[in-house]
Amino acid sequence: MSEDTIVAIATPLGCGGLGIIRLSGPRTLEICDQLFLAKNKRRPSQFKNFTVHYGWVVKSSSEIVDEALLTVMRGPQSYTKEDVAEISCHGGVVSLRGILSLAIDGGARLAQPGEFTKRAFLNGRIDLTQAEAVLDIVQAKTDAFLRVSLNQLKGELTIELEAIREELMSLYTEMEAIVNFPEDDVDTSARGELRNRLLLVRGRIEGLLKTSDQGRILKEGIRIVLCGKPNVGKSSLLNVLLKEPRAIVTEIAGTTRDTIEETAQIQGIPFQLVDTAGILEPRDLVEEEAVKRSRLYMNRADLILLLMDGSQPLSFEDETLIEMVKERRVLVVINKCDLAPQLEEIKLRALLEGPVPERDRAGKKMVRISALRKIAIDQLEEAIGECVWQGPTDTHGVLLSNVRHISALKEGAALLQKAQGSLQEGLSLEFVSEDIKLAVHSLDTITGRTIDSDLLDRIFSEFCIGK
Ligand code: GDP
Repeated sequence: MSEDTIVAIATPLGCGGLGIIRLSGPRTLEICDQLFLAKNKRRPSQFKNFTVHYGWVVKSSSEIVDEALLTVMRGPQSYTKEDVAEISCHGGVVSLRGILSLAIDGGARLAQPGEFTKRAFLNGRIDLTQAEAVLDIVQAKTDAFLRVSLNQLKGELTIELEAIREELMSLYTEMEAIVNFPEDDVDTSARGELRNRLLLVRGRIEGLLKTSDQGRILKEGIRIVLCGKPNVGKSSLLNVLLKEPRAIVTEIAGTTRDTIEETAQIQGIPFQLVDTAGILEPRDLVEEEAVKRSRLYMNRADLILLLMDGSQPLSFEDETLIEMVKERRVLVVINKCDLAPQLEEIKLRALLEGPVPERDRAGKKMVRISALRKIAIDQLEEAIGECVWQGPTDTHGVLLSNVRHISALKEGAALLQKAQGSLQEGLSLEFVSEDIKLAVHSLDTITGRTIDSDLLDRIFSEFCIGK
C-alpha cells in the first residue's frame, strides 16, 4: 500500500453541472476532516462506509469554498483498495481548484495521470488488462468498442489468458520433471502427445490473435476514402452517410479546399470518410497539392468507395480513377439509380477486374444507390460492413485491440512454435521447456504478473489525471 495520499480533479475542467475531486491514501479521511463541514456536524472519519453526506468545503470556520457532497469509501472495498473520498461540488474551475489546493495544503499530493487506477493494479484489485480496459472505456468512440472494453474490465481476457497459462505451466512442470529425472525419458509417442498439447495451446493463442483485426477496427475505426469524378454525387453521399441520426460524431479536419475528413459510425464501426475531389487534372498549385493528398489518402485507405454516375456512360475520368484504385479493396457505388441507366456495367467490371486473379474478384462488390433520393443506403451500409467485418468470433466476446497484448501474444505463439519444432526434431526437453517458460513470461507481461516499472509508467501515462 502507498504511504502518500493523492488528490486530483476527476472531471474535465470547464463549466460543468458538477465537478469531482478524488482522494486516495492513508490520510484521506484526516484531510476530509479538515476541509469538510457536514451539515449533520459529524466528522468524515466517523461516516459509515459508502455513505454520502451533504455539507460545505471550508477554508476556515468562516470561509466557505463550495457547497458539496462527500462520499467515503474505506479500503479495501474501494477503487484503489485504499481509503478513498469523492467530493462532488459545483463544476466550476475556481471551486474545483480551491478544493484541490485545500487538500494539498492538508497533506495530499497531486496525483499523476492514471495513478488511481495504477494503485488499483498495484494493490491487486485488478490486473493490467483490466486497468487498460479502464482507459479504453474512457476513450471508446463506439458502443461496440465500449462493450468489448467492458468485457475486458470484467476480466474476460484475463480468464482466457489464465487458462492458457495454466495449460502451459502444467506442460512445463511435466517436462521439468522429466528433465530432472532422466531415467523417465520420454518415448516418441509421449513426445507426440506433448506436441499435440502444445499445438492446442498455440491454437488458442492464434484464435485470440485472429480477433485483433476486428478489435483494431472497433477501436480505431476504418479509413474509407470516397472518390469519384466531379458531380458524381460524393458530397451528397457523404451527407447522407453522416446525416443518419446515429452517424455524426465529429469533424476532424478540412486541411485543403478539396479534402473533407469526417468520422461516422456505420453498423457500430467507426469510419473515417475522406471525400477526395479535384483528383483529376489539377489546374493550379493548390489543386496539385490536393491531388497529392488524395492519392496519399487512397493509399492508406482500408476501403475505397468508388462512386460512378449510373446515368452517364463511362468517361475518360472514370477510367483513370478505376486504373488508380483497382488493385485495392474497392466497393463500387453506382449512384443516381433514380435516373435512366447509361453506365456500361459490363465494361466497368472488365476494367476493374482485368488482370486481378479470380480469388480477389469477390472483393469488388457493386451497389446501386441514389444519394439524392436516399435509395438503397441501407444496402450500401451493409455492403461496407461486409467488406470490413468478418463476422462473429469464437472467443466469447474477447477481442484483442491493444497493440501491447497483440505483440506479447505473437511472441508467445512464436516461442511455442519453436518448442514444437524442438520436440519434433528430438531435441532435449530442456530446450522445449525453456521456450515454454519464455512463452509464459510473455503472457505474464499482458496481465502484469511480471512487468518492469518503466513499462508500467508508460502505460499509465496515457491516462487522464484523476482516473
Ligand atoms: P460531387 O461533385 O461528386 O460532390 O457531387 P454532388 O454531391 O455535389 O452532386 C452533384 C449533382 O448531382 C447535384 O446536383 C446533386 O443533387 C446530384 N445528385 C447527387 N446524387 C444524385 C442522385 O442520386 N440522383 C440524382 N438524380 N442526382 C443526384
